[in-house]
Amino acid sequence: MSVARSMRITEVGPRDGLQNEPLSISTAAKIAFINALSKANFAEIEVTSFVRADRITQLADAAQVMAGITRAAGTVYSVLVPNERGLDGAMAAGAQKISVFVSASESFSQRNVNASIQECLDKLRPVVSRARAAKLAVRGYVSCVVKCPYDGAVSVEQVRQVCARLLEMGVTDLDLGDTIGAAVPDDMDRLLAGLESVAAPTDLTLHLHNTSGRAIAVAERAIALGVASFDSSAGGLGGCPFAPGSPGNVATEDVLELAARLGIETGVRADQVRAATDQLRQAMTIARAS
Ligand code: MG
Repeated sequence: MSVARSMRITEVGPRDGLQNEPLSISTAAKIAFINALSKANFAEIEVTSFVRADRITQLADAAQVMAGITRAAGTVYSVLVPNERGLDGAMAAGAQKISVFVSASESFSQRNVNASIQECLDKLRPVVSRARAAKLAVRGYVSCVVKCPYDGAVSVEQVRQVCARLLEMGVTDLDLGDTIGAAVPDDMDRLLAGLESVAAPTDLTLHLHNTSGRAIAVAERAIALGVASFDSSAGGLGGCPFAPGSPGNVATEDVLELAARLGIETGVRADQVRAATDQLRQAMTIARAS
């Protein structure tokens, strides 16, 4: 396996980052943050989530945010949707791509969304099929691909089965989440080998958390094994509120530094990412004080 010369980065800070911060910033501040990120030339920005406002109050303004941002020509603007109602919102807002999510761990699924993996997949089927009929790309997030906060180690076979089901229903990108940041580099060898029958490493995206300080080491191993697409969050914003002890999406700045060290092209402007992060920190300071 030869190492890729380019890497695709999806900036998930506006959605996965802000969703997991305890305090809400204003709609205007979110729009300004996303507009600043849009200057960094990301392949994709996950903007927000069309979830029930009472479940994730931080993202209750999804439609206003989507309407307010200025989109860059080369960037795909995606949104997370949990169900058909969310898909309606996403389509009305002109999202180019949606993300759906399911867990590879039964306990995490029950605790996170109060439904079994099978129930989640059944609920997603019409969402994915309608999205594909509308020519939207669909990312399928699979959480807990290495460890679950409740069940411990998750078998690669479990992950493979969930991935196979998502692909069958029409998901266009598989995105594997190390939800509690428990992975070590060697986990990538067994995970990627175990998924070969459903997807090559070059067709997978990794969503790493830096909870244990190993996200970059894990990413470097994954790159050596052929992975060329990563999610990251400007400034390492956000974690996961439903997974105890899981702060910290891997920081976009750190992924960019890794890519630069390995001589891999990302197309992303690090200076603009830093500017966006600084801007967001200011907005959070203001929100905290008010
Ligand atoms: Mg995350």
